[in-house]
Amino acid sequence: MEFRNLKKQYQQLKKEIDRVVLNVMSNASYIAGIEVKELEQELASYVGKRHCITCANGTDALSLALMAWKVGIGDVVFVPDFTFFASGEIVSYAGAVPVFVDILKDSYNIDPDKLEEAVQKVKNEGKFRPKAVIAVDLFGLPADYVRIKEICNKYDLMLLEDGAQGFGGMLYGKRACSFGDISTTSFFPAKPLGCYGDGGAVFTDNDEWAELIRSFAVHGKGNNKYDNVRIGMNSRLDTLQAAVLLVKFKAFKKYELVNINEVAGWYGDMLKDNCIGLPEIKEGFYSSFAQYTIKLPKEIDRQRLQKFLNGLEIPSMVYYSKPLHLQKAFTGTESAKACCPVTEDLCKRVLSLPIDPYKTKDDIEEIVKGIGKFILDSKLI
Ligand SMILES: *Cc1c(COP(=O)(O)O)cnc(C)c1O
Repeated sequence: MEFRNLKKQYQQLKKEIDRVVLNVMSNASYIAGIEVKELEQELASYVGKRHCITCANGTDALSLALMAWKVGIGDVVFVPDFTFFASGEIVSYAGAVPVFVDILKDSYNIDPDKLEEAVQKVKNEGKFRPKAVIAVDLFGLPADYVRIKEICNKYDLMLLEDGAQGFGGMLYGKRACSFGDISTTSFFPAKPLGCYGDGGAVFTDNDEWAELIRSFAVHGKGNNKYDNVRIGMNSRLDTLQAAVLLVKFKAFKKYELVNINEVAGWYGDMLKDNCIGLPEIKEGFYSSFAQYTIKLPKEIDRQRLQKFLNGLEIPSMVYYSKPLHLQKAFTGTESAKACCPVTEDLCKRVLSLPIDPYKTKDDIEEIVKGIGKFILDSKLI
């Protein structure tokens, strides 16, 4: 079994993907072809933002947002402790300090109460300027933007939504990647909407930031790429990736997002009588299930369970095994001082199971049976 079956997806879409890829190759407009513009318009309209600027990957997308806000030395940016490294990395890369905040164990997303405490602490200490919050839509589920926005307004902080895993999710009928002052996503192959390489996008309603980001992404261009008015970078989505994404986006909207929610529903039904902690999707929230992540009870040896499942040819992954504040890259820095007991506990107990829109009920039954057998065997020992 595949953890995320991208081969099956390609087989399903092969005719159209092959056609558009060959078309780009014949047209030879490999950078900034019309497909890129078309994709940006479709994505902006889907999430409900005025601007979409595509770029080379989801990490650059985050960096471009911080560049537009001139985040740098002396600034603090609040980041959940339980996320992919890039969410914190880009803050340090910009010269600012990431302050890691604990998460809610039910949603895996940043805990608004802990966020407010962290903001007050930085303010009281007076050593750094609280500047922005990066909220991550982890595993496909939007963060609690109602509460987070209140805190951002109260303390005059910018809100950056890291929607790398969140594309397609919703909160009270509004799409993910629309909640931040700037929002970003990633088209890394295994994300909810993935391309055939690296890719990313930035979303905003703000005309000034949109123009700045377009410039930063192409060597700080002014009127053209040989008129350079600021220091930028080279971060573009190429035409081939845009063409692939246009095809995949159609399938995503038509059935993939619905299907993956159905698969998650099967997991929920079949696992509910176990001693396992299931992902909780609260009223008003809708997940795009970038991952299906369960919490194992303390008695279960995660590594042994993974080995056992592997023996049944069922892959599983640990997202994430280490809190960001304990990553070696942050040792000795201000960021390492975070206190995040929920994250530390979950890092020991989470397990992500195979999921994608093409899994069948039989696949899920096979996985759940395997887990059930392991639990039963463990208790007999
Ligand atoms: C994948 C990911 C990123 C980075 O995206 P890339 O396209 O791989 O650079 C950032 N944040 C989160 C939460 C991610 O999962």
